[in-house]
Amino acid sequence: MNYRVIDAHVHLGLGEMNQDCTEYVKRAGLRNNPMPAEVNLELEDVVVEKVVLVPSFPCGNTASTDGFWPQKHWRSMMEDRFLQYGTVNPNSEVSVEEELASQYSGGIVGIKLHPVHHFYKPNDYREEEKGLGRLQQVYEFAEDHHLPVIIHTGTSITKGARSKYGDPIYIEDVARDFRINVIMAHGGRPLWTSTALFLAKQFSNVFLEISSVPAKRVKEYFPRIGEIKDKVIYGSDFPNFPGESIPGDAAMMIRTLGYDAGIFHDNFLRVAANVP
Ligand SMILES: [Zn+2]
Repeated sequence: MNYRVIDAHVHLGLGEMNQDCTEYVKRAGLRNNPMPAEVNLELEDVVVEKVVLVPSFPCGNTASTDGFWPQKHWRSMMEDRFLQYGTVNPNSEVSVEEELASQYSGGIVGIKLHPVHHFYKPNDYREEEKGLGRLQQVYEFAEDHHLPVIIHTGTSITKGARSKYGDPIYIEDVARDFRINVIMAHGGRPLWTSTALFLAKQFSNVFLEISSVPAKRVKEYFPRIGEIKDKVIYGSDFPNFPGESIPGDAAMMIRTLGYDAGIFHDNFLRVAANVP
């Protein structure tokens, strides 16, 4: 029997990055960018049918779209297997409407936000916070186009990062204020996993994504994960941990959690937009 998998969180094809991020990638021993056709997607009984590319640089930065366009070009060589999130940094000078509209016309499946690398709280659009209009525009665009918003939650130890922005509790406001689905990338690991679990249980429009959570820690971080199987989305965060492959990572998680069609395949499809 084959295990059908969608890996909903992979960072390939990002192109040029700022110096801090490039140095981090080098120091961490992460692999060079392969071409799409060179990426291994099958291993024994694991078939990774789709890979969702996440345009996020691996350290704090002031870019406005974090490698989205080079990644889109990379993906264009193999669009049937590779999907992509859009992204915008609401602290940059970019015109949110125009940028997201042009990304949307290229077929994005959702919008990624990285508060920890771009320095804001997910609810900073609110008046009692910072009244950040560009962030409000991102959520409104998602609402109008039925796109989910995936938000980095949890720490980042890379240069320039500010982990304080990784607390998922601020997503409560987003879940209440907009008619959008919110995916909490990394499930708030390692400091806020119980907050993330609470939000996924409490709000029908909040989902828990487990990328970068090591298989051997997943049950420790989320002891009641079985109670919210229909809200959990699998992802690997490849290649942010050296020595793994995309299907190899999935195989380890399947061995730990057992195969669940929702977690490893269907839940993402329920939430994502524009999947061919
Ligand atoms: Zn990631």
